[in-house]
This record gives sequence, C-alpha cells and structure tokens, in this order.
Amino acid sequence: MLRYVTGPVLTGLMVLLATGPAAASDFGRSVDDEWEIHDPDRPQPSVVDPGSAPEVPRPVPSDAMVLFDGSDASAWEHRNGDEVSWKIEDGYMEVVPGTGDIVTTDAFGDVQLYVEWATPETPAGDGQARANSGIFLMDRYEVQLLDSYNNPTYPDGQAAAVYGQHPPLVNASRAPGDWQSFDIIWTRPRFDDNGAPIEPARVTVFHNGVLVHHEVELTGPTAHQSRPPYEFHPDRLPIRLQDHRGEADKIRFRSIWVRNLEKH
Ligand code: MG
Repeated sequence: MLRYVTGPVLTGLMVLLATGPAAASDFGRSVDDEWEIHDPDRPQPSVVDPGSAPEVPRPVPSDAMVLFDGSDASAWEHRNGDEVSWKIEDGYMEVVPGTGDIVTTDAFGDVQLYVEWATPETPAGDGQARANSGIFLMDRYEVQLLDSYNNPTYPDGQAAAVYGQHPPLVNASRAPGDWQSFDIIWTRPRFDDNGAPIEPARVTVFHNGVLVHHEVELTGPTAHQSRPPYEFHPDRLPIRLQDHRGEADKIRFRSIWVRNLEKH
C-alpha cells in the first residue's frame, strides 16, 4: 500500500510517526527562558552610538514599493477603511493620538521593510509611555517603536524589540527628534494544508544600521504579557503602524518602503 503514497507525503508521514506533530511550543526556541516576559530585572542591552542622523531619507531601491514618501499616505488607511487622518506636513507623517492604527492597503508576506522614524524632540512620559508606536508585520507581529534614549524600560519592550519576545542585541537609539531607521528582513510563518504551523516567523533587524536581531524566531503573535501561539493566517497581510494613543506618542515617519521577497 505504501507504494501508492507519494514521496513528500511518505516523508511527512515518517516525520510525523517519528516526532509527532510539530508543537507550537517548539517555536521561538531562541527566546531566552531565563527571563520572564517583560522582566524589568533583565539586563539592559548595552548602548551603541550609531553615528549622526542622516539629513535626508536613504535613496529608495528601484524595485521597492514606496509606502510613504514624506507626503503621500495613499498606501495606508485606517482599519475602517477611512483615509489616514494622521498629520502630514513638512515631509513627514505624525501619529495623531486617538485616531487609531493605520494599515497598508496592500498585503505582504516575506519582505524587506525600511522605515525612517523619529520620536518627539521634547520627550514626555517614562518607559512605555514615551513615544510608543510599533510596526506590526502581517498585522500581528510587532517590532517596537519607542524613545529608548536614556529611557529604560523592560528590555523586551524597548525600541527595536520583538515585543515581549526578543530584546534587541544592543540599544542603538538616537536622541529624541533625530531621524532613525529600521531595516527589517521578515520571513513569515508557514502553515501546512490543515492550517497547523510548521515553520515559525523569523526576523532580522538593523536599527540605525546596527544589527539588533539576527534571524530570531517568533513564538507566535506578539502581545502584552503573553506569548500566544500561532494561529493560521493568509500568506499575505497588511503592515500596520500603531497609534498607542498617549499624548507623548506622536511618532513621526518620513520614509517607508518595502521589497517583496516572495518567490513567484
Ligand atoms: Mg508599541
């Protein structure tokens, strides 16, 4: 009977018999279990000076899709489909607290994503309350945006953290008001035909050109005080920017572009 079973199915069956179904808890092995989620006693990543802020945005590669160029926010909308009501002036877009998150009108899977952002020149609030926003890959996996310049908070929630899972390797933050950048290389999770997760999402991030995550695995979606397991979702989903709703959370963006890394 086995001769009627095709190669990949047979291999899958043998793997299943040998190991059982992949357990979601196996994912994110690179999360350091020595520390509780949001552990305030976890050592602060060491500070690295990334050099001075660039005066103008980085040039955009020719095969990139521009999501924001400093003036045109038409690649974005609020969740209810409304036009973006964040402030757009002088070559940047600024979160207007209380107006809600914005999502791309297009959906993306594996990508290289570039974002230039700045926190308010005059900081207010402490810890998570100082210039909080976030970049949510596929609408559910957050790379944290925060003013982490002389602003300690739990390391898995500081700027460039994979929120609640991975602190950045170092703190490469620039001063409030300075333009900063994230280069994010994102590999989406893979699900089998039954919707079970078979490969975790992985991410590499450079903060102001400094490596802060190298191919770390995610345990599942990011969340506050929890690490929920993967749930099946489409291969392509919008990118979301967070309105954290505090008066001190007026983060600015001046350049956002994305390169599709999905095979065709
Ligand atoms: Mg956030």
